[in-house]
Amino acid sequence: MENLLGIRQEIMDLAKETEEQVKKQFQEVEEVCEFNSMRILHAFQKYQVSDMHFNQTTGYGYGDVGRDVIEKIYAEIFQTEDALVRGQFISGTHALTVALFAMLRPSDTMLSICGKPYDTLDEVIGISPNPSSLASFGIKYEQIDLVDQDFDYAKIEKTLKEKKIKLIEIQRSRGYALRKSITLDKMEKVIQLIKKTDPEVIIFVDNCYGELVEKIEPSHLGADLVVGSLIKNLGGGISPNGAYVVGRKDLVELVAERLTSPGQGKEVGPTLGMNKQILQGLYLAPSVVASSLKTAIFASKLLENLGYIVEPKFDERRSDIVQTITFGDPELLIRYCQGIQMGSAIDSNSIPEPWDMPGYTDQVIMAAGAFTQGSSIELSCDGPIRPPYIAFMQGGLTYSYGKLGVLKAVSNLKKKN
Ligand SMILES: *Cc1c(COP(=O)(O)O)cnc(C)c1O
Repeated sequence: MENLLGIRQEIMDLAKETEEQVKKQFQEVEEVCEFNSMRILHAFQKYQVSDMHFNQTTGYGYGDVGRDVIEKIYAEIFQTEDALVRGQFISGTHALTVALFAMLRPSDTMLSICGKPYDTLDEVIGISPNPSSLASFGIKYEQIDLVDQDFDYAKIEKTLKEKKIKLIEIQRSRGYALRKSITLDKMEKVIQLIKKTDPEVIIFVDNCYGELVEKIEPSHLGADLVVGSLIKNLGGGISPNGAYVVGRKDLVELVAERLTSPGQGKEVGPTLGMNKQILQGLYLAPSVVASSLKTAIFASKLLENLGYIVEPKFDERRSDIVQTITFGDPELLIRYCQGIQMGSAIDSNSIPEPWDMPGYTDQVIMAAGAFTQGSSIELSCDGPIRPPYIAFMQGGLTYSYGKLGVLKAVSNLKKKN
């Protein structure tokens, strides 16, 4: 017996049982969603968003009132002095790049305290050689690895006492690394240590995938600059592209002058009709993040029930929307990702295969049947084809669609060869 999507009754029964087991976690997600919705609604009301803010500017984009109100709302939500929210950032990586180039000068040292940063920053920093990297400008890079899933507080303190560090990078989400995401209680502890040891260091947070998962953000804890993508959490599945940078006013200004040009900074930047989508995406974001979290929690428990190793566990505290499932077998990883694709609304008939991607050593399989290309707040799943064959899954615009995608993927796992 199968339903319309070809999901067998026994899997639907298992889903029902799983949902009973995760009720408490779902309730907690709903509670955070309501709290964050309140924060966002308050910001919209405080800055009196109205129809006129949806209008577009073209050309230089001088005096775009919609753009200005968006940036005030972002600063309000993050409790920062200023914000830069622009479609001219083409991705999270681009915003991180512009921000790093804006902060760092030749002979400065950047220190990452979560191990190696996200893969796409390798060539930006110069960990992998590139003639346009920060390293090519004489900017030094150092790294301190996590120990036992936590910061190496002693080594961080020692390093800050021994040498001048200009900027510390903290990556909240796990990226493609085999580590847990950084919860905000750990983030608070390390920020306090850094501020106490050297108050001049710029604390820079890659917040991708972490927004609205908890009731506060790294900026509430004293981070100086926080960066993320609009085709992830805060775009709510509506923003067509873009990214944000929030933080100290002087630092945001430096980023704006690097994005546009010195002397023009935030004053220019045509919005080309995107304001309404950015605002509507932000408005929906708490609920979309909640759907993604519920999809992840459901998948975590369902696949654990089926005998797979999952991270995080369904009842663990989360700081991002990413769920990993360890398959221990390339064939199962590929089938799971293909099943996620089959369960999506867009391109459900195309079958993803592992391929060589620029910047990756192993082949990678990527499943994303998304309305917005590359959007990973929509249900998506990918994994490098290397032991122990881990799927990184995230997103889900609604819980029902997320759940159905997971069930389709599980059906595909169980399919006979
Ligand atoms: C996705 C992601 C990025 C890069 O964002 P893109 O928009 O894909 O360039 C950077 N850091 C982390 C932790 C991410 O998850």
